[in-house]
Amino acid sequence: MKFALVNGQRQEAQPSLSGKCPACDQAMVARCGEKNVWHWAHKGRCTVDHWWENETEWHRAWKGLFPQSWQEVVHRSDSGEKHIADVKTDQGWVIEFQHSHIKPDERRSRDAFYSKLVWVVNGARLKRSRTQFINVLEGGTPIGAGSVVRVPFSDECAILRDWVGGSAPVFIDFGGEEDLWWILKGSANGPAYVAPFPRGQFFEIHRVGATEEVRDIFEKFVNDIAALVSQHESNLALNRTGQLTGRGFQQYQSFASRRSRRL
Ligand SMILES: [Zn+2]
Repeated sequence: MKFALVNGQRQEAQPSLSGKCPACDQAMVARCGEKNVWHWAHKGRCTVDHWWENETEWHRAWKGLFPQSWQEVVHRSDSGEKHIADVKTDQGWVIEFQHSHIKPDERRSRDAFYSKLVWVVNGARLKRSRTQFINVLEGGTPIGAGSVVRVPFSDECAILRDWVGGSAPVFIDFGGEEDLWWILKGSANGPAYVAPFPRGQFFEIHRVGATEEVRDIFEKFVNDIAALVSQHESNLALNRTGQLTGRGFQQYQSFASRRSRRL
């Protein structure tokens, strides 16, 4: 972890410091070597948060884009269950950065634990993932003329198979300056709805002082996407042209195609 409690204060790891885990209160060791980014480690495992994943540079780079007070926030449910959210924004969005493979049942537990959760998945962990994803995407069908949404088949792509079908929004990060890819909807052995999403716009939504306008567009779209996709599918079944309709989607499309100057 990046932060532990040292005399009750959140601090980053430094040689010879000792701290406590903010979730389980057990002693943590400052690991300050040359190979890995400096971090805090439990002597064993965190006894409270079984979801905690060892951090990579990728995690650190993402978390570091947000204010320190939003990073590694202990979240406690009504039943007393505790987890450490990678980032929790002032608007209550929890952003989880997932590097390693996650089992479907654990993922569903997290979808259920956080009421407003966004996943960012490291698509660059395996070299083949990006090529496989792009190939499958190119073989997919675009939704109507001029749409950024494409519908590939998930079963031909490991990362889609793993991440489609959850209740929280999922963004795949293939690294660099490339757009993120939003897996909007779909099923593991059927079609997936996928759209590019500029990194800059992701920060516009979640940054400090994000405008109400962008937050509303995002939140509305997250809430509406299931209905929009069902509508599209019934249009297709009726042999109408498969344009994704609805004001929410149009708003999203124009929002996603804006280029932010921030990045
Ligand atoms: Zn702990």
